[in-house]
Amino acid sequence: MKILEVNNLNLGFKTENGFCQALYDVNFALEKGKTLALVGESGCGKSISAMSILKLLPKTAQITKGQILFKKQDLLTFSEKQMHGIRGAQIALIPQDPMTSLNPLYTIENQLLEVIKIHQNLHGSEAKKKALEALEMVQIPCAAERLKAYPHEFSGGMKQRAIIAMALACHAEILIADEPTTALDVTIQAQIMKLLSDIKTQLGTSVLLITHDLGLVGENADEIAVMYAGRVVENAPSKEFFEHPNHPYSLALLNSIPSNRGKHLETIQGQPPTIHQHISGCRFHPRCKCCFEPCTNNIPPNFVVAENHTSACFLNESL
Ligand code: SF4
Repeated sequence: MKILEVNNLNLGFKTENGFCQALYDVNFALEKGKTLALVGESGCGKSISAMSILKLLPKTAQITKGQILFKKQDLLTFSEKQMHGIRGAQIALIPQDPMTSLNPLYTIENQLLEVIKIHQNLHGSEAKKKALEALEMVQIPCAAERLKAYPHEFSGGMKQRAIIAMALACHAEILIADEPTTALDVTIQAQIMKLLSDIKTQLGTSVLLITHDLGLVGENADEIAVMYAGRVVENAPSKEFFEHPNHPYSLALLNSIPSNRGKHLETIQGQPPTIHQHISGCRFHPRCKCCFEPCTNNIPPNFVVAENHTSACFLNESL
């Protein structure tokens, strides 16, 4: 069952130079109890797509078209008051830097109790029991003791676990994890990814994982959507994607994963366009090694290349 569907999302920014489009007909869907990885270089639109779901956008941003269906209801029609009931309680954000969500002046317990009070209307010993359960669920050792700690007494990985505990304490159905491990050591990265995977399996929580690192998603995602310059260029189940990647941009990303030992490590020439640059045709064409005649003036549609696998590349036209 699809718990979240983003359909034809178009978004832009009002700038000094006029309106600049940043998202072009973005489509992706998250199944209940699954992980969808939204992958791409920084600036490709993955984070702004995620923030659109929570309607936490800068004032200059404007959604011009599209739907964001959460359990079949379009969040874009929700009032700010209705969104208060969604954010944190049903869709929670795990940010790159946990300190943007933790208050340094309050203990972890106080912060957990606050969200439990707001979202579950529990107080006193009942709320304290929930707070302890949440911290235990994210595998923080000596959880009862650690509840009394302040955020600065936690390591980076433990802070990220505390944020995940807050989302679990609210029984959030979707976790949006925006580059959740970028600020962490490699071993801690693996632990946090394992924790997200365990939560998905045990609680049936759905995870939208935003990352620039395709190496991170291999074992951690069920579905992959690759974004480039404001468009989803390839979408496939994870196994299918890694076995049969199709889009030249996806292939270039895969060839630039450092862990593929023994293989020639490639870089992608050039830079992705900014939202101020107009690119005709396929938005990847200035950097694409396979660019041919139709690519410069025509926008490639999503070609179905296998079951549940689409790729927006003209190379599939003759197949
Ligand atoms: S449509 Fe053309 S330019 Fe775009 S990725 Fe495919 S081959 Fe490259």
